[in-house]
Amino acid sequence: MQDNIEKITEEILKNKGRIVALTGAGISEESGIPTFRGRGGLWDKYSPNLYANIGGLIATFIVNPPKVVNFFVEVAEVILHAEPNQGHLGLAELEGSDILKAIITQNIDNLHQGAGSKNVIELHGNAYQWKCRRCGKKYKLSTKELGEMVQRIKNIKISRWGLSNKLKEIAPTCTCGGNMRPDVVFFGELLPQDELDRAYNELEKCKLLLLVGTSGIVHPAASLPSYAKASGARIVEINKQPSSLTSLADYFIKGSAGVIIPSILERIGNN
Ligand code: NAD
Repeated sequence: MQDNIEKITEEILKNKGRIVALTGAGISEESGIPTFRGRGGLWDKYSPNLYANIGGLIATFIVNPPKVVNFFVEVAEVILHAEPNQGHLGLAELEGSDILKAIITQNIDNLHQGAGSKNVIELHGNAYQWKCRRCGKKYKLSTKELGEMVQRIKNIKISRWGLSNKLKEIAPTCTCGGNMRPDVVFFGELLPQDELDRAYNELEKCKLLLLVGTSGIVHPAASLPSYAKASGARIVEINKQPSSLTSLADYFIKGSAGVIIPSILERIGNN
């Protein structure tokens, strides 16, 4: 690993300003947000067949509304209490030093922005953001507003009867009168085209792609490293274990993002 970190530091310095990071749930694990697939992850408790897609959520809600409410509250509370860790902070520092050009993330937790990163491309949306189903207008809630919403949901006695009235009490209303939904991408839904276009644009220009904490299972995000490679980028992977993208990587560093990224930064500082 020592050896790889030295080589990666050289690669990073050589490609300053033409480096992009693609991050997944693993980078936020050290902030206390469980990955979905790991042991003790969300999918151990809630079946992804029911909870990761809108159809499944609606069907479950009709049969057992409290279960869906608990799922929403559990995810929101974990995200609300999470703070950026050394991995997020390190990537923000790399951007601040004009070394890292952009972060493409599959995460919805807002922790890259919380760490100070500016050019963040969110492929799967953001847990703080709501979107009008009618006019498409987006609203970003503050931590306080999301916290208050979660409290309101916890205090409401929810049943399948009178559901639409209850939803109006919970969700923000758009100025156009349209219903709002969380602006996150569920399984089976399309990724936001503008974010995807920005991601492809960054990957076409990048010379080095840092893959951090992603299993490389969820598509189309998982196909972006191949796109970067075909466009001429070299790939560095940081993960606690090999992933389905490891065969594409020019360098693999086994370990936690919150440990590896600061040690790369330290070496950059010494150069
Ligand atoms: P995943 O759960 O499929 O895989 C996580 C990967 O991170 C694994 O390869 C694991 O070995 C690695 N990992 C775990 N802890 C790590 C650490 N400390 N340092 C480095 N690597 C670590 O995650 P995915 O590939 O991002 O796909 C999951 C999907 O679920 C994504 O679409 C994402 O939107 C969503 N998700 C988001 C969050 C979040 O916003 N924080 C959390 C869970 C899931």
